[in-house]
Amino acid sequence: MSYKINTNCIQAGYSPKNGEPRVLPIYQSTTFKYDSSAEMGDLFDLKASGFFYSRLQNPTCDAVAAKIAALEGGVAAVLTSSGQSANFFALFNIAGAGDHIVCSSALYGGTFNLISVTMKRMGIDSTFVDPECSPEELDAAFRPNTKAVFAESLSNPSLCVLDFEKFANAAHKNGVPLIVDNTFPTPINCRPFEFGADIVTHSTTKYMEGHACTIGGAVVDSGKFKWTDYPEKFAPLIQPDESYHGISYTESFKEGAYITKMTVQLMRDLGCTPAPASAFLLNHGLETLHLRVKRHCENALAVAKWLEKHPDVKWIDYPGLESSRHHALAERYMPNGTSGVIAFGLEGGRDRAMRFMDSLKLAAVVTHVADARTCVLHPASTTHRQMTDEQLISCGVSPDLIRLSVGIEDLDDIISDLEQAIGVSK
Ligand SMILES: *Cc1c(COP(=O)(O)O)cnc(C)c1O
Repeated sequence: MSYKINTNCIQAGYSPKNGEPRVLPIYQSTTFKYDSSAEMGDLFDLKASGFFYSRLQNPTCDAVAAKIAALEGGVAAVLTSSGQSANFFALFNIAGAGDHIVCSSALYGGTFNLISVTMKRMGIDSTFVDPECSPEELDAAFRPNTKAVFAESLSNPSLCVLDFEKFANAAHKNGVPLIVDNTFPTPINCRPFEFGADIVTHSTTKYMEGHACTIGGAVVDSGKFKWTDYPEKFAPLIQPDESYHGISYTESFKEGAYITKMTVQLMRDLGCTPAPASAFLLNHGLETLHLRVKRHCENALAVAKWLEKHPDVKWIDYPGLESSRHHALAERYMPNGTSGVIAFGLEGGRDRAMRFMDSLKLAAVVTHVADARTCVLHPASTTHRQMTDEQLISCGVSPDLIRLSVGIEDLDDIISDLEQAIGVSK
């Protein structure tokens, strides 16, 4: 039986049998008992499926991963301990030393660091492209050793809406998957698989969990990318894995090859697994995702319209506003709304931004975004402070940019707070 996304937010991933708990239980156990060593051996050889150690699989975590797979319309998913590990795993599962990836330059600061510094140290090169580049410029970024294209569907904090068609075409023409970080719109507002993405990642820390209680991530596979069409490029998915007695992931697990490899190799060896209690909290958040995202977007659009008219607001970017340079792409790929996040600058630049933020009473200055409570951040002096001015501009973050994450409080109270803080900061 297939249900609509609003139903899946609540019901997908867990269907109790007769007499079992109605609510997904927290399986707070590192390990699982079997009657014989032979049975356990089959699990280790991946000949049988089942739980044996929670670093690899856990019933609570797996149920929540299955829910996220259903929300995105994918075939399989895995939860990770953070959004950072989700993006790292998504790339490292198919790219190693000597390989190369093509990325949009409109990225979250942490992802930019991960790819440009840490993965570079591991021998993985990258080329960052302007998201508004021409198809020819994008094509020119590829090399024979390119293994993936990476981009954010709605970039944090520059709010650039991905031109899915351009990026998917370039990736597929060059025989590699398009990996999309869909954290900001969530599957409620955008389903990247419908627009050509092959793999989706999330920082579930943001809207998915939604209450700023727990860090987490997820990787979802559409099951659509034909790894076996490129036997040399994706050999580690196709060729026998000696650490599993010569199993071939594509042969044994078909559509599940990419996620199975990630679970049994990367989770086994690197261990970025979430705690079952964190997965439980994430599941709680997901149950209201469809309601919250709608309200975040309604509040944010109203706040954006109010800010746009304010004489002290120098510039504003919210893809839901007609004045936004991202409006046309937002209409095409996120017609029901983008997110609760607004970027804007005040007359008076960086110093005024600081005074404004310090004067807010309801909205808090926090290193967070996309949760139920309204919050603000100045990326140039926090999340992106390691970047040079040049790098800041290239990823769409001007030094005066204020990232306002509109919560689901009463709209009037949010606007009153902004109004008084803009006044005080004059
Ligand atoms: C926050 C964020 C991340 C990193 O996620 P963590 O859960 O903080 O590790 C990655 N991508 C985007 C778009 C984000 O907003």
